[in-house]
Amino acid sequence: MAVGIPPLELRVDRERCNGCAICAQVCPTQVIDVLDRKAVFSRREKCMGCQLCEVECPVFAIQVRRPILKVVSAEGAVPQVKPQVEPQVEPRRTGEPLIRGKPLSSYFRE
Ligand code: SF4
Ligand code: SF4
Repeated sequence: MAVGIPPLELRVDRERCNGCAICAQVCPTQVIDVLDRKAVFSRREKCMGCQLCEVECPVFAIQVRRPILKVVSAEGAVPQVKPQVEPQVEPRRTGEPLIRGKPLSSYFRE
């Protein structure tokens, strides 16, 4: 079973972007260019996900997101994981208090 790290999702809202180039100036790995007054992620493979561009953009035009990790088996299928459920205990009608569904006395050794 292998765990793959999905690529970062980098988005620019071109409607909001005003081409100020602040994002390109703050990016430590020169991922961003400004072409025709719009930011473009030209070198996505160099992005390290620091989110500086997102934080510094004055018009909130950038989104940097890391997708949720998925566990994938060698065959590519996501393995089924059975949820851990506590075994059902038939409630006794003794008036004994139940703790998490079990009679209180079941937590103590005889
Ligand atoms: S900082 Fe924001 S508005 Fe300025 S170029 Fe980058 S995305 Fe566009
Ligand atoms: S998240 Fe960081 S490394 Fe990636 S483009 Fe933005 S500033 Fe550059």
